[in-house]
Amino acid sequence: MALDLDENVLDIKERRQSELLTGAISVAAILLFVGTGSQVLSTTLQHYFQGGAPADRTLVIALLLNVALILFGWRRHQALSEEVRIRAAAEERAQQLASRDPLTGFLNRRSMAEEGAAMFVRAGRRRKAMALLIVDLDHFKTVNDMHGHAVGDALLRAVASEIAQAMPPIALTARLGGDEFACGFLFDPEQPDTVERIAERLVSRMAQPFEAEGLRLHISCSLGIARSDFDCASIDALMRSADIAMYAAKKSGRNRYAWFDQSMERELQTRNELESGLRTAIPRQEIVPYFEQQIDLTTGRLHGFEVLARWEHPQRGLISPELFIPIAEETGMIAELSLSIMRQAFAAARDWDPALSISINISPWQLRDAWLAQKIIKVLTETGFPANRLEVEITESSLFDNLALAQSIVGSLKNQGVRLALDDFGTGYSSLAHLRALPFDRIKIDKSFIMSLNESADSAAIVNAIARLGESLNLPVTAEGIEDAAIEERLRAIGCSKGQGWHYGRPMSAAATRRLLAERRLLQQPPQARSGEPPLDATSQRLAG
Ligand code: C2E
Ligand code: MG
Ligand code: MG
Repeated sequence: MALDLDENVLDIKERRQSELLTGAISVAAILLFVGTGSQVLSTTLQHYFQGGAPADRTLVIALLLNVALILFGWRRHQALSEEVRIRAAAEERAQQLASRDPLTGFLNRRSMAEEGAAMFVRAGRRRKAMALLIVDLDHFKTVNDMHGHAVGDALLRAVASEIAQAMPPIALTARLGGDEFACGFLFDPEQPDTVERIAERLVSRMAQPFEAEGLRLHISCSLGIARSDFDCASIDALMRSADIAMYAAKKSGRNRYAWFDQSMERELQTRNELESGLRTAIPRQEIVPYFEQQIDLTTGRLHGFEVLARWEHPQRGLISPELFIPIAEETGMIAELSLSIMRQAFAAARDWDPALSISINISPWQLRDAWLAQKIIKVLTETGFPANRLEVEITESSLFDNLALAQSIVGSLKNQGVRLALDDFGTGYSSLAHLRALPFDRIKIDKSFIMSLNESADSAAIVNAIARLGESLNLPVTAEGIEDAAIEERLRAIGCSKGQGWHYGRPMSAAATRRLLAERRLLQQPPQARSGEPPLDATSQRLAG
C-alpha cells in the first residue's frame, strides 16, 4: 500500500510538471497572439473594407496556429486539472483507508502507534502526561455468535460512538482489532482523577443496554489505563502497560477499570513462566489427576470421583487448575493435557470397584476438535476402562462455539455409553434451550450457590429452582461445594440426588484415593489373592465412609 501511494505521488508530480509545460506553451501562444494578432487583424480588416494590401499569408497562418494552440492548451489544462483533482482525492482516500478502521472510522492499530508516538512526545514537551486507555468489550463474542456479524458490527459502531463522546476534545481514538479499542489524551499529571472520571463514565455507559439492528444488547467492558509519566518510556511500553491493566480488570471480574501497576507486570511474568513450564510438565506427567468424592445424598454412599487436575510443580508445590487450565486453553495445550490426565486417571481407576464412576472435565476449547470423541475412546480402550463408568462434564459456554460439532462429539461418546453432565449450572446463561440442546444425563449446580445456601435467600431460591427444573426434565442434580453437614441436610430436603465437597474430603492424589478405597474394601482383588479368600462382593458392601 505504501508503495502504491509513493507511485501515486510521483505520478501526480509528473502530471503537475506536464501541466506547467502546457501552461507555459499556452502563455507563449497568447503573447504571440497579442503581438501578431492586432497587426494581422487590422491589415485584414483594412483589406476587406478599405481595399488595402492583404495581410502577409505567413502571419495569418501563424495567427491561426496560435489560436489553435491556445484552444488546445486550454482544453489540455482543463483535462489535466480534473485528473489531478481526481487523483488527489483518491490519494487522500487511500491514505484514510490505510490509517482508519473502515467500520468505526477510528484510527487503526498502525496509525494509533504513529499518532500516539507524536502525542507521547508532545506530553513531555508540555509538561503533561499522556493517558492511554485500552477498552475491551466483555462477552462480545457471545453477541456475535448468538446474533450474527451484522449485529456485532452495528454494536461496535455504537460502542465507538459512545467512546468518542466520552473522550475529551483532543483525543486519539482507535480500534485495535476485534472488540478492542484504545484512546489517548493529555492530562495534568497532578490530576489523575480527570482520567478516572472518564474511565468511570465509559465503564458505566458500556454496562447500559445498546440498541443495534432492532435488538437490545447487554454488554460491559474492561478498561486498562497507563500513564506516560509513571510507567513508560515509549508509546509501545505505554500500550503494553495499558493492555496488561485491561487484562487485570478482566480477571478481577470485568465491567471495571484498572490502573497499571508494577505488580501486574510481575504477574504477567509468572504467567509466562507457567506457560513455558507447562510445555515440559505435560510430557513429564507433572500434571496429575486428583480425585474428589461424589456421594449419593440419599444413601450416603460413595458412588464415584470427579477428576481434577493438579500440577505437582517440583519447586512451587501444588498448583491449582484455575491457574494453569486457562493458560493451557489459550496456548492450545489443553487437548494434550486433558488426554494425559485421562490416561493417568483411567489407569489408576482400573482396579477400583466396578460400581465407582469417574467424571472428567472437558474444556470448551476441546469441543472444537472433531476427533475428540475418538481420542477419548482410544484412551478408554488403551487403559481398559469401561466407557459406561465415565461421565464427561461440560459447561454451558461449550455450546456457543459450534453446537453442531458439540452435538456430533457428544453423540459419538454417548453411543459408547459415556454419560454427559452440565457443569457449573446457574452461572452464565442457565438457559433451558442449552439444557435441551444436548442429551444431558445430569445437571451440576455451581458451588457458589451451594456454599452460600444457608446464608443467602437468593442462593436457596436458585438451588430450589434448579432442583425443580431437574425434576421436570427428569435430570438428576448434583450439588458441588458442600462444606458442612447443615448444607448437606438442606440439599437432601430440596431433593438433590448427589453431592460433592470438602465436607466429604478434599480432592486426593491417586495414591491417597487408593488408600481410602482399600480401607473401604473397594479395590478389586488381584486374581491370586482372590483364590485364597472368599470373593469380595464389593457392590453389595456399604460404600460410604
Ligand atoms: P469444577 O469442575 O467446577 O470443579 C469443582 C471445583 O470446586 C474444584 O476446584 C474443587 O476442588 C472445588 N471444590 C469442590 N468442593 C468444594 C468445596 O466444598 N468448597 C470449595 N471452596 N471448593 C470446592 P479445582 O480443582 O480448583 O478446579 C477448578 C476448575 O478447574 C474446575 O471446576 C474445572 O472447571 C477446572 N478443571 C479442573 N481440572 C480440570 C481438567 O482436568 N480439565 C479441564 N478442562 N478443566 C479442569
Ligand atoms: Mg467439574
Ligand atoms: Mg463445577
